[in-house]
Amino acid sequence: MVEIVCPNCAANLDVPITPIHTCEFCGTAIQVSLMVGPDGTSITGEELPEETKKNFIFNDHYIVRSNYTASEAQSIMEDWVKKIPGAPQDFENTATITKRVLKFYPIWVGEYNASSDYRGIDNWPNFHRPAFDRPGWFEAVSYYQREESGNVLREYQIPLLGLKSTPNYLKNYVVPTTGKEYFDITHVKELGGEIIDSNYSSEEAKRTMRLAVMNRQMSEMRKEVHTITDRDDRVEERDVFYIQFPVYEIDFTYNKKKYQAFIDGSTGRIIHIDVPISRKFKLISLIGGLGQIGVGIGLFVMGILIPSIMILGIAVGIGLVTYGSILLSMNFRKGAQEKQI
Ligand SMILES: [Zn+2]
Repeated sequence: MVEIVCPNCAANLDVPITPIHTCEFCGTAIQVSLMVGPDGTSITGEELPEETKKNFIFNDHYIVRSNYTASEAQSIMEDWVKKIPGAPQDFENTATITKRVLKFYPIWVGEYNASSDYRGIDNWPNFHRPAFDRPGWFEAVSYYQREESGNVLREYQIPLLGLKSTPNYLKNYVVPTTGKEYFDITHVKELGGEIIDSNYSSEEAKRTMRLAVMNRQMSEMRKEVHTITDRDDRVEERDVFYIQFPVYEIDFTYNKKKYQAFIDGSTGRIIHIDVPISRKFKLISLIGGLGQIGVGIGLFVMGILIPSIMILGIAVGIGLVTYGSILLSMNFRKGAQEKQI
C-alpha cells in the first residue's frame, strides 16, 4: 500500500500499488503508477503545480450503469435456471444464496484508424495444355511467385479487459459498452458496488491495443499475399476509454454443493452459471442414458449378426447410443451461459 493525495479532491488515500485507482470520494481515475517513485514512495506529498496534477488523472473514465438491483439480478437468475432441462424447479426454496456482490470491472476500449502500405509475395497460377474437348479449360496448372503491393485501410474498436488474469467466465464475454456514461461514483455507492481497477496502466493498455491493431492489419494483408516483405503502418488513435461495467456475482448452495452465477448488471444477461441438476433428473438421466446405450449396443450387435435386420439394427443402435450419451453427459455438464448474438 502507498499513501497518495487525490489529484482531484485532495483526499488522503491509502491505496494498493496498482497502475490505476478510482478515488472512492470523487470517482477520479488516478494513475497511481505515475505518482509513485521507483522506491515505492509517493511523490505527491509536495506541493505540485496544477498542470502536473492533471497528468495524474485519466480523464476518459466512463461507467456502464447497472439497471438491476441485486434482488432483481437474483430473480433473473432463478427464472433462467428453471428453463434449463434437469435443473430443479423448486430452486428458490431449496437453494441458499450465500453471497451477492456487485463488481464494476475495468475494460479499456480503443478506437483506431489504420492504414498500411504493403509489399509481398503471392502465388499466381499458370495454366497449361488447353483441353481439346472443353474450350476455356486447361488440364494442368502450376504456380509462380509474383510480387504484389497494396494498401489496407480499416477502422477498429479494440476492447481490452483491464485484468491481467481474466476470470474464465469473462474471457469470451463481449462486454456491451455502447451505453457508457461519464463515471459517477454515486451510482456505484447507491448499489453498494465494488470497483475493480485495471492492472494495466493507460500506457500499457494503449500499447497492447495498438499491437492488436497491427495484428489485425497483418491478417488483412495475409489475405492478399502469403509473405509480407515490407510494410508501412500509420495507426491513428482516435479515442481511448477506461470503462467500468457491472457484474453481479451470486454464490449459492444446492444439495450441499457450491455454485456460482455471473449476471451482467446492465443487460440482465447471464454471463455464466453453474447449473445445479435436480436429484430426480440425475436418476432419470443416469438410468435412461445407460439403458439406451445398453439397448443400442444390443441392437447394433444383432444388426451385424442377423443380415435381415442389419441396416435397421445398426442405424437404430447407433441412434440410441448417441441419445443415451447425450442424456448421460447432461449429468456431468459444468455450466451454462446465455448465447450472445
Ligand atoms: Zn478524489
